[in-house]
Amino acid sequence: MKEKECRFSKRLNAYIDGELKMDEFQKVREHLKSCHLCQIELRELTTLNGFLSSYEEEEVPEYINQRILTTIESTAIHPQRVWFTRRVVNFSIAASVLISFAAGVFMSNQAFAQNNDSDLEFGQETLFSMYYEGE
Ligand SMILES: [Zn+2]
Repeated sequence: MKEKECRFSKRLNAYIDGELKMDEFQKVREHLKSCHLCQIELRELTTLNGFLSSYEEEEVPEYINQRILTTIESTAIHPQRVWFTRRVVNFSIAASVLISFAAGVFMSNQAFAQNNDSDLEFGQETLFSMYYEGE
């Protein structure tokens, strides 16, 4: 990885603004997990754009919420601790999501005990891959 500039960096603005198509968005999102340079860049961009305040009032997808929380945590601490904090934040979110999900599964199991098992397993796998991929 080059130190000064990353080829993804010019896409970060569009990423933040939601201007990327879904597959592009996913690419950048995946890339951000491993590129410290872009993580820093994203943090600076989100701060500049007032991203946090403008998005807080809207209903946003979970991955955006996660990004916001990660950004909040990241800006307050030393970069070398970002990775650790990201894990903590991710874990907190995953934990709360899993709890509510588990509650939903429990209730679904009560209601559809006979025929919903495969769907539930699929849902759980999807959830896990959302939060644990690339780690
Ligand atoms: Zn990068």
